[in-house]
Amino acid sequence: MTRRRQRRTLKPLPGGRVEYKGRSFINFCSNDYLGLAQDERIVQALKEAADEYGVGSGASQLITGYSEAHEQLEQQLADFTGYDRALFFSNGYMANLGVITALADRHTSLYLDRLAHASLIDATRLSRARYQRYAHNSVADLMARLADDQQQRRLVVSEGVFSMEGDRAPLIDIAQCCQQQKALFYLDDAHGFGVLGEQGRGSRSAQGLDTDAVPLQMATFGKALGVSGAFVAGSHELIETILQRSRTLTYSTAPPPALARATATALTIVIAEQWRRDKLEALVQYWRRVAHEQELPLLESDTAIQPLLIGADADALAVSESLMEHGLLVSAIRPPTVPEGEARLRITLTSAHEQADIDRLVQALAASL
Ligand code: PMP
Repeated sequence: MTRRRQRRTLKPLPGGRVEYKGRSFINFCSNDYLGLAQDERIVQALKEAADEYGVGSGASQLITGYSEAHEQLEQQLADFTGYDRALFFSNGYMANLGVITALADRHTSLYLDRLAHASLIDATRLSRARYQRYAHNSVADLMARLADDQQQRRLVVSEGVFSMEGDRAPLIDIAQCCQQQKALFYLDDAHGFGVLGEQGRGSRSAQGLDTDAVPLQMATFGKALGVSGAFVAGSHELIETILQRSRTLTYSTAPPPALARATATALTIVIAEQWRRDKLEALVQYWRRVAHEQELPLLESDTAIQPLLIGADADALAVSESLMEHGLLVSAIRPPTVPEGEARLRITLTSAHEQADIDRLVQALAASL
């Protein structure tokens, strides 16, 4: 019997730790990859902007909810990513819903990776596009499906880094395939933005692609930037279409202006502090070396997402519970989030961790598995 999921009431502590029921745990479940969620400078920016703007935006962006703080953030994002224009959404889920329903309808063929994130699947269903799911990261499969399809309007959607696997998509090949087949490529870079590429520009930059190769990309601010919200960036034309048609923008209150300001500060820090990405990368390499020595069931990933494949749901839960006794928080991910029989421990590393934290994790895993 599957157990009911439960929320834990946590309080953040410094050093990649959280307090739970009065005890400190090392948190290996957070997507706060660069350790910025409690950063004093971002907190200060939020406070100062709240003094200026108050809390709520009061209306949707197209009514009166759009402020200079939102506009400046969008400009900063466009400049940083190299696209004409960027659009601010309240979160990544809403961005995916808004973008895909704006661009796809029943006259569109949509192609999704087999392991696409739930928000992309929900968005696709809502759009009523005809859709197919190609084999994970298989450009050959994608190509064969596209070549077989006469539909004029085609949209291909991939993540830059897959949220439950940690592996990277072959963006160069996907982009080439899309250009050849005249399909629009939409990249969800939730887990790459801020972490990968030059100054954290993300998966596209890490694979040396220009904006023409990836005409539309989104990312969330809830992960590497340590804040909340999301953006999509693209050409003037595409962004204007999304702004006009996205129901998640039109019919939803704009995010607080103070949050836009805090996000702008977070982005400035992400760009400037390369040491955070360097430290994270060094920790990932260290973890893979020691985990490999202990013959832990690693997946092929060189990103901050380092899942261990366990198999049975009950086993993954049991290991997660046993790790808690060692003061370590590691989430067990079960179906339907991952395929049946592929329950796993989703370990995420952040630049707030130290090598000693990883040593503790590896020792406890070696004892629990
Ligand atoms: N896309 C992917 C690939 C994600 O992993 C997530 C977050 N789990 C989202 C979109 C949604 O982003 P947000 O948390 O900002 O809603």
